[in-house]
Amino acid sequence: MTTRRAACSCGQLNAVTEGDPVRISMCHCLACQRRTGSPFGAQARFPSDRVSINGTSTQFVRTTDSGDHITFHFCPACGSTVFYQPDQEPDLIAIPVGAFADPSFPAPTVSVYEARRHPWTGLPPDVEHFD
Ligand SMILES: [Zn+2]
Ligand SMILES: [Zn+2]
Repeated sequence: MTTRRAACSCGQLNAVTEGDPVRISMCHCLACQRRTGSPFGAQARFPSDRVSINGTSTQFVRTTDSGDHITFHFCPACGSTVFYQPDQEPDLIAIPVGAFADPSFPAPTVSVYEARRHPWTGLPPDVEHFD
C-alpha cells in the first residue's frame, strides 16, 4: 500500500496517508485562492482512518457558499494548511496536494468553480468540469 507524507513548510505538522485518495480535485473558488495564495487549490481526500496526524495545529472554520463549514488545520509556526475537514463529510480528511511536495502525485479528476478560473491556467485532459 502506498504511504505518503504531507507536511507544512517548517515540518512540525505532518500527515501520513495509507493507500490512494478517494477523490482528487482542483478548486478555482476565490476562498481557495486566498487560502493557498495560488490561482487554484488542489486537494486529495482520504478516509479519516487512513490518515495519521502528527504535530500541533491551529484551526480556522470557514463557512461555504452553501452554508456548510470546513475546518482548516494549519501550522501555528509557518502557517501552511496541512489538512481540513468538511463538517458534512466527517469520515474524510482533505489534504492540499502541494503539501505532499510530490510531482508524481496523481492528477485531479474533478475541477470545480471553473467560473472563477484564471484563464491562463491549464486543466488535466480528462478532468470532469463544474462551474
Ligand atoms: Zn510549520
Ligand atoms: Zn475552493
